[in-house]
Amino acid sequence: MLFRYFRRRRRQQLLAAPMPLAWQPYLEWGVPDYDALPSVARSRLASYVRWFVAEKHWEGCGGLELTDEIRVTIAAGACLLVLELDFDMLSRVQSILVYPTEYVAPDRGLLITEVEDEDEPWLEGSARLGEAWYRGPVVLSWQDVERVARLHRRDLERSRAERAGQTIGANHRGPVGRQKRKRGSGRHSERDNVVAHEFAHQLDMLDRTVDGTPPLADRRQYKAWTRVMTVEFQQLSDDFDHGRPTFLDPYGTTNPGEFFAVATETFFEQPRELATEHPELYAVLRDFYRQDPAARQEACAAGARAAGH
Ligand SMILES: [Zn+2]
Repeated sequence: MLFRYFRRRRRQQLLAAPMPLAWQPYLEWGVPDYDALPSVARSRLASYVRWFVAEKHWEGCGGLELTDEIRVTIAAGACLLVLELDFDMLSRVQSILVYPTEYVAPDRGLLITEVEDEDEPWLEGSARLGEAWYRGPVVLSWQDVERVARLHRRDLERSRAERAGQTIGANHRGPVGRQKRKRGSGRHSERDNVVAHEFAHQLDMLDRTVDGTPPLADRRQYKAWTRVMTVEFQQLSDDFDHGRPTFLDPYGTTNPGEFFAVATETFFEQPRELATEHPELYAVLRDFYRQDPAARQEACAAGARAAGH
């Protein structure tokens, strides 16, 4: 009780002073479609980011010097997941370790490791994009976090220019639609979001099992979740086994825990495409996260189109 009281007081004190101005762009680039968030969600995101940055133990590894950009970008991406849930769902994560790039670490009996390429047996240990441990640190590669943050920035600048009535090049991000993955296309797709991925594992672990099912609201949600996730996981595995192109990252075939993490990345990064390609999967994720990123992306795009004419 006392701990909670002090924590609440500390958080209030933190918000009493304004957020450093320099943080704002990093916060915006840390999430997809920042402008599409309702204003109440944006200010909640800012509060969560400040708590997250202050409360976690941050460590730059492999010679990486941590900056506000690194901390705020990662914090924003993590906090987006719990924006409509509960900030304290991230409380079990106490440390964030950031490496400059994909890193090679000896196996330390990890619960979950992201194996970069199983066909590289010459690697000592295994190259990892990020990893999540139960009650352990979240480990990330800044190179991969930064790559997707650059895309968020590009999208944001384009949509803002469009709303301002400026001409946009042909590359404006519309619904990408049927862009499918081919077998062996590797872990690196443009919109792989390692922060969403690792923190999805953290949510999954809240009930102490890494089975692709985070704690859900009620029996109805569990029922729908189990049915849809089982079918979708099986479908992805079948497609992958038969060499059929898939919309979801085949990395999700590893196990149900990875499937949930991959689905979460796609849910936030390509919501409209996911809603079209896998409407039931989209619906259970929407009910869990209590967010409808496809609808807000659509509304934002419609607003931009209206402003552009
Ligand atoms: Zn994973």
